[in-house]
Amino acid sequence: MITRLSQLFLRTLRDDPADAEVPSHKLLVRAGYVRRIAPGVYSWLPLGLRVLREVERVVREEMDAIGAQEISLPALLPREPYETSNRWTEYGPDLFRLQDRKGNDYLLGPTHEEMFALTVKGEYNSYKDFPVTLYQVQAKYRDEQRPRAGILRGREFIMKDSYSFDLTDEGLADSYRAHRDAYERILARLGVKYVIVSATSGAMGGSASEEFLAESEIGEDTYVRCLESGYAANVEAVKTLAPQPIPLDGLPAAQVHDTPGTESIDTLVDWANAAELGRTVTGADTLKNIMVKTRVPGGEWELLGIGIPGDREVDEKRLEAALEPAEYVLITETDFANNPFLIKGYIGPKALQDNDVRYLVDPRVVDGTAWITGADEQGKHYVDLVAGRDFTPDGTIEAAEVRDGDPSPDGAGTLVAARGIEVGHVFQLGRKYTDAFEVNVLGENGKPVRPTMGSYGIGVSRLVAVIAEQHHDDKGLRWPAEVSPADVHVVIANKDESAREGAETLASELDKSGVSVILDDRKSSPGVKFKDSELLGVPLVVVVGRGWAEGKVELRDRFTGESREVATERALGEVLATLR
Ligand code: ATP
Ligand code: MG
Ligand code: MG
Ligand code: MG
Repeated sequence: MITRLSQLFLRTLRDDPADAEVPSHKLLVRAGYVRRIAPGVYSWLPLGLRVLREVERVVREEMDAIGAQEISLPALLPREPYETSNRWTEYGPDLFRLQDRKGNDYLLGPTHEEMFALTVKGEYNSYKDFPVTLYQVQAKYRDEQRPRAGILRGREFIMKDSYSFDLTDEGLADSYRAHRDAYERILARLGVKYVIVSATSGAMGGSASEEFLAESEIGEDTYVRCLESGYAANVEAVKTLAPQPIPLDGLPAAQVHDTPGTESIDTLVDWANAAELGRTVTGADTLKNIMVKTRVPGGEWELLGIGIPGDREVDEKRLEAALEPAEYVLITETDFANNPFLIKGYIGPKALQDNDVRYLVDPRVVDGTAWITGADEQGKHYVDLVAGRDFTPDGTIEAAEVRDGDPSPDGAGTLVAARGIEVGHVFQLGRKYTDAFEVNVLGENGKPVRPTMGSYGIGVSRLVAVIAEQHHDDKGLRWPAEVSPADVHVVIANKDESAREGAETLASELDKSGVSVILDDRKSSPGVKFKDSELLGVPLVVVVGRGWAEGKVELRDRFTGESREVATERALGEVLATLR
């Protein structure tokens, strides 16, 4: 394909847009790849759309290669499935909610676990149908609190999300591994430098959830890694691995264990009861409990109650009354059936609770000591929930911050901190959604089996920004060949009619050889054209300019900045060889 700049729907800008702070945002706008419509909502113009499509192509190729099958679900979704999974509420203010003309509730899908579980339930009913992995590449909607850096954190963005369905835990582990490997191949092809970090505490097995973070100074995620062992984790996860143990007086000896992460549900329930964390905790299989503790200024932590959603033991009136004077509020939720060691919760000054300050809380028993610790997203607060001790701002407990230079939790060396942008996330979900939607299939022995799920997301539109962020210089973008909007950018920088004809001939020969060409056939000055070629970022630029009279054209490498002259008649062969 030959794209003529004289006709392309493109307007490059000389100045940085006023609202742009990070390089990728400035350059993608200046180079005419994207345009802003509203906060976190962007249009893709021709060249931007091409890069987006190239990223999608790579992602699709690698998904297809692991046997995942593409489908497409709507973004406009009814409330009910999300009500069943509890996410209509749990997702909080990030969810775009809307109503139809009849007053029925809808949402714009932020991620599609519910719909995929229901889709599989609708079609498959025998063990013979499994395993199966489905994916889609589609617009997602999240009302992000802080849309940022153009397409980097959008409120509408393109995600590839896939979901694996297996009948056994080993099967899930295999599907997870296949995705993890595919993500590695995708990022390598896209030229993205990244690290894989464990996204949750080691108590969950370490591989249950991992994030792919693109290395970048402007990233919002902080991670640490140990150069000696290769251990890497996001900061939240490390905090839960490096807590402050607090002895629990009065805890019966039977409840004390040497190894973390191996307690059964029953033991944990006993332990929770003994620790007076949950008088009403039972060992029911699908138990989910909500625990509410409050503290009034200067007072003690008070356990208000513990309950099971739908069958609430928490006395709502009493709760409200107690929340009134409370300074700090803790609400935790544990899914004992699936993840006995992960409590997701909110703890914080009451005022902040409305802003959905999320904390990871991790209860464990190690070396005869039981403790629960929590850390907030900013990593500023640390609190021992069992003893009801206070946050670090009050100075009661030393912060267990992970910081540059601290020892690695695996004992292998020293941690180094850096920043990254989350580009992918792989997650062994287990049966949370298949339980919620009662997905059963007929097992080999005639008994029903419940499939176990994995979910895997990769930020397709975010990757365009990430690639731009990692590959640019002060003059403009520098696309890796795999995603570049064209293979070669031919600049006509000589007014001579024969030079124009020569450039046209070269462009059409390249086109015939399957090379996609941007041909700058505009009337502008060579200076303007060179600047634009640097800004647009095609990796190989061919200049038909001054040397034309001596039978030479110039090949410029946008990455190294090197240029060399080649004889006109050898230009086609040289370009093809360079591209190969
Ligand atoms: P983040 O921590 O950046 O908010 P997330 O953990 O909320 O991302 P996931 O739910 O794991 O995101 O979604 C899978 C992938 O979708 C992410 O790894 C990221 O690449 C992409 N993504 C998530 N939110 C956005 C967004 N607002 N804009 C662009 N891409 C996004
Ligand atoms: Mg997010
Ligand atoms: Mg994240
Ligand atoms: Mg994530």
